[in-house]
Amino acid sequence: MEIALQYDKNNLKDSIRAIKNSIFFKERAIQQLKIELEKKENQLQETIYNLINVCKHKWEDDYIDSLDGYKLSRPIRYCAKCELTDCTNS
Ligand SMILES: [Zn+2]
Repeated sequence: MEIALQYDKNNLKDSIRAIKNSIFFKERAIQQLKIELEKKENQLQETIYNLINVCKHKWEDDYIDSLDGYKLSRPIRYCAKCELTDCTNS
């Protein structure tokens, strides 16, 4: 609604057309970004799989602090060489 107020109220038809065009191009830009994001996520997963296959993991157990200070630490298993965790791909 605020955007609509920026347009000339005397040319309501033109204002609506301009807003609809703006919506169209923003939706298209978002769709393109989603496609690009999905491509990057796939590339990231492929890179992680490559790391999993290449590294001769040396698994170690440790504890990490919980975000809630009053709760107990959380156990974690990680590779000392590549730093993957047992929840990297979960
Ligand atoms: Zn490793």
